[in-house]
Amino acid sequence: MIVVTKNSVTDERIGEIVAFIEKHGVKAHVSRGTDRTVIGIIGKADPVLAEQLRSMKGVEDVIRISKSYKLASRDFHPENTVIEIKGLRIGGDELVVMGGPCAVESPEQIDKIAYLVKAAGGQVLRGGAFKPRTGPYSFQGIGVEGLKWMREAADRYGLLTITEVMTPEYVEICARYSDMLQVGTRNMQNFDLLRKLGTVKNPVLLKRGFSATYDEWLNAAEYILAGGNPNVMLCERGIRTFETYTRNTLDLTAIPVIHQLSHLPVIADPSHGTGRRELVETMSKAAVAAGADGLIIEMHYDPDNSMTGDGVQSLFPDQFAALCRDLEKLAPLVGKRFDTAKAPAEAFAS
Ligand code: PEP
Ligand code: MN
Repeated sequence: MIVVTKNSVTDERIGEIVAFIEKHGVKAHVSRGTDRTVIGIIGKADPVLAEQLRSMKGVEDVIRISKSYKLASRDFHPENTVIEIKGLRIGGDELVVMGGPCAVESPEQIDKIAYLVKAAGGQVLRGGAFKPRTGPYSFQGIGVEGLKWMREAADRYGLLTITEVMTPEYVEICARYSDMLQVGTRNMQNFDLLRKLGTVKNPVLLKRGFSATYDEWLNAAEYILAGGNPNVMLCERGIRTFETYTRNTLDLTAIPVIHQLSHLPVIADPSHGTGRRELVETMSKAAVAAGADGLIIEMHYDPDNSMTGDGVQSLFPDQFAALCRDLEKLAPLVGKRFDTAKAPAEAFAS
């Protein structure tokens, strides 16, 4: 249930309405917008409470919400969430480009790629130190040492970082070394992990499970939000369909749908979404045209010798840089901005 207040309502009155709601054993969540304020009620609200609220001073309407997720829904929070971290605003008018290798392989490799990401205009360095591999004998990632190499490389060039965390026990250490944390497709419904991520403040990029519906995905986000971390981004990374030509089917429709259903920023991953390098550029632009707030893209200077199988979907550095230049032109058409001009000088200065 949500309570929509009248435009003219004062903060003091909102406080009184919240106190009234919470006296009934449910929690109230206030979301202040420019034209109206919405008070979401979390917990099972008595129908009598709805009637009482409807007749209270300052209340415009009381609406029942049947969705199982609340904090993630736009009904509860009508304005877009903008996540602010180290001067970067995700979900606002800035397009965010996260680039880097599938996996951190060595200090030299991550340093070189960090430089290339920065020089192209990207703001965030991606790279996995813990890799969720389909087979147990495949390379599983460098581990904590890789987190440190990535942090050093990112700091050298003034980039933020994002890395995957696979288990609740590793959340704290990953949160210490990385600005943002990624939940991989295979872990979207690892509820213990999601609950643990609710206890940190680092922004979390929640990838869509490759067979998850929008509803399941938003409920997974709800676990993190309900745990107390409001900084969640939703990442469309392709789903499994009958088509085998591509590794996955990038569901572009998810981007506008999730924007309708939720206030959280939406990021697209055209690398895992297609699994094919030659499709990454086109699908990156398509995702931005569809309203994505950012992209997460694999890039490697020597993809054929990369340590995971994802070299086939990694862009070469010149392709990544060319894509960034095109994104700079495309972004204003969808109300965003992306600036490559100042990047090279900053990168060289470091
Ligand atoms: C990755 O980003 O390298 C990765 C493993 O992604 P996903 O969870 O989408 O497969
Ligand atoms: Mn990968």
